[in-house]
Amino acid sequence: MHIYADNAATTALSPDVLKAMTPYLTEIYGNPSSLYRTGAVAKDAVEAARENIAKLIGAKSPAEVYFTSGGSESDNWAIKGVCKVLKAQGKNHIITSKFEHHAVLHVCESLAKEGFEVTYLDVYSDGLVRPEDVKAAIRPETALVTIMYANNEIGTIQPIAEIGKICREAGVLFHTDAVQAMGNVPVNVTDDSVDLLSLTAHKFHGPKGCGALYIRRGVRIANLIDGGAQERSRRAGTENVAGIVGLSKALEIAIDTMEERREKLTKMRDRLIDGLLRIERSRLNGSRECRLPGNVNMCFEGIEGESLLLKLDLAGVCASSGSACTSGSLDPSHVLLSLGLPHEIAHGSLRLSFSDSNTEEDIDYLLKVVPEIVDYLRSFSPLWDKIKSEN
Ligand SMILES: *Cc1c(COP(=O)(O)O)cnc(C)c1O
Repeated sequence: MHIYADNAATTALSPDVLKAMTPYLTEIYGNPSSLYRTGAVAKDAVEAARENIAKLIGAKSPAEVYFTSGGSESDNWAIKGVCKVLKAQGKNHIITSKFEHHAVLHVCESLAKEGFEVTYLDVYSDGLVRPEDVKAAIRPETALVTIMYANNEIGTIQPIAEIGKICREAGVLFHTDAVQAMGNVPVNVTDDSVDLLSLTAHKFHGPKGCGALYIRRGVRIANLIDGGAQERSRRAGTENVAGIVGLSKALEIAIDTMEERREKLTKMRDRLIDGLLRIERSRLNGSRECRLPGNVNMCFEGIEGESLLLKLDLAGVCASSGSACTSGSLDPSHVLLSLGLPHEIAHGSLRLSFSDSNTEEDIDYLLKVVPEIVDYLRSFSPLWDKIKSEN
């Protein structure tokens, strides 16, 4: 048995995407900035991808889409770039949430060292930011609100359109890290009143190392990467032509198939959640309703998430305890702590994230092995003995 259930960390490259990319890795290798034909063909492919992506995310113009190396760069650019411009106008306050991806949180921490004040909004036990909290936190000196579209660990989908409306009415710029949401739930920068939006191809079956930042026309932003005149002099570096073509194709497929995937994955997800909740002292982390179709995140008291993952690996299951970025450290996830979970419970977490390639048989298998492993680990857990004796 081999089950890949870590699609929130990265996804397999789709064969159709690879097929679309291949010519740009082989024959059409010209530099898009050059004047000869093979360069011009590459440039046309980049511009066609830009137009396609703009359409798919509801941007008014392709000129609002900039290619980057992925989600982390897009987040860094959006936040640092806007804050640099607005700091000069006396705006030195950022609003974000406690459970953002580190590509947002660590940027906010670095800006705090440069004199920015950061408000970290609570996400409550359901893992949802409250629009009224955003509204209450806005001040005259607020430069930017940055709230993720869907959380990468617990999959909760935020009320982005409502937050966008509040920011627009207050005249404050709004960035959203839509890396997890893109291709899984409908995202539209115009309807959602978003000023800046980050996305990355490898979370929806595109290639790694290629992403985009949507920057609404009129938003003033400093460069993150200076150099050549690519991306209309706003992001230097020879274009990742094959990656860009792959990003465009992958997003198109994801959006075309979104509805049917959503139906299938939601059914599988809910069956798995119901089954795993039968395990004594287990809990689902974050809202069940406002949740990505493919995300299951549970805690099992009395065990270590790491031990659970190692046993699952031996059973042929690739899963995660939450964020790939924090694995290797034994600190509990900042996301689970932000929900108000105590340290010892947040330690026993498991994230299973699915794609279209997963099957009902995968769910059957997980419903068999996860309870067995939890039982096994609890059988020699002093923590579990203590929990049992207290009740
Ligand atoms: C994966 C992820 C990122 C980072 O994207 P990369 O392309 O790997 O740099 C940022 N934000 C969220 C929410 C993510 O899930």
